Amino acid sequence: MTLPLPFSLAGRTALITGASSGLGAHFARLYAQAGAKVVLAARRTDRIAALAQDIGPAAHAVAMDVTSEDSITSAFAAGEAALGPIAIVVANAGTSAPGRATHVSEAGLRMVTDTNFTGAYLTAREGARRMMAAGVKETGQGRIILIGSITALLTGEGDSAYAATKAAIAHLGRNLAREWVRQGINVNTIQPGYIQTEIAGDFFETDLGKAKIAAFHRRRMQPIESLDAMMLYFASEASACVTGAVINVDDGQSL
Ligand code: NDP
Repeated sequence: MTLPLPFSLAGRTALITGASSGLGAHFARLYAQAGAKVVLAARRTDRIAALAQDIGPAAHAVAMDVTSEDSITSAFAAGEAALGPIAIVVANAGTSAPGRATHVSEAGLRMVTDTNFTGAYLTAREGARRMMAAGVKETGQGRIILIGSITALLTGEGDSAYAATKAAIAHLGRNLAREWVRQGINVNTIQPGYIQTEIAGDFFETDLGKAKIAAFHRRRMQPIESLDAMMLYFASEASACVTGAVINVDDGQSL
């Protein structure tokens, strides 16, 4: 991919959590095409190993469970040993425990908060610690991108825990941006709309799901590629003066 220079990721190493499917796998390919080396992190190691092989020598797969601090630390260490200091982190891993609040189990609730909130927090923290230790203050090239969701802005029936963790992610992003503003690290949050991936299972093929799509202003699911420009912007030199931003890239679904 030939990119205008400020958007190039040549010479940079990115770590992407949840790279085994959906948005994470897409971001990994995108960043590799933009010239980055990419550390692919997830629990399903067979999938990330296959993706790494497909991308080529610029990719390396590492096992990571974001609900475990030890697993996060080990994965960063393995990623850096293979591809060099990580200066771009995409905290993308996420899960959902759909169901009315009266029926959601404690285990489901904890899984969602441990993955979507604590997991993203610990991922960002490990990335920032390593960037600071590597001297990112001098280059100003540290980038942390949190994947939120437009559910942070909406209310609905049946995904309250997920939506609340995504609202927390937006505020976490602003707070981490403030803490690290003089450390050469920018922290920004993207809030996508509904995109067809594994997270919703076959919901959007059901009558209820089809009715939901028909109610979107553009009567369609958001194309995954619609996130590319903002993902490149936040990772690259182009966003040098942008930190603490929370931006909806949602095909107008939240309007
Ligand atoms: P997928 O279900 O396709 O991907 C979720 C990813 O998260 C998988 O790669 C999974 O990897 C990873 N993951 C889940 N739990 C853990 C864990 N404990 N440790 C490490 N990785 C984990 O869904 P999407 O690609 O759609 O979701 C990616 C992100 O985008 C999520 O944060 C989601 O909330 C967000 N999002 C998605 C939208 C959509 O409509 N698709 C809209 C807005 C936001 P593995 O199981 O291999 O560990």
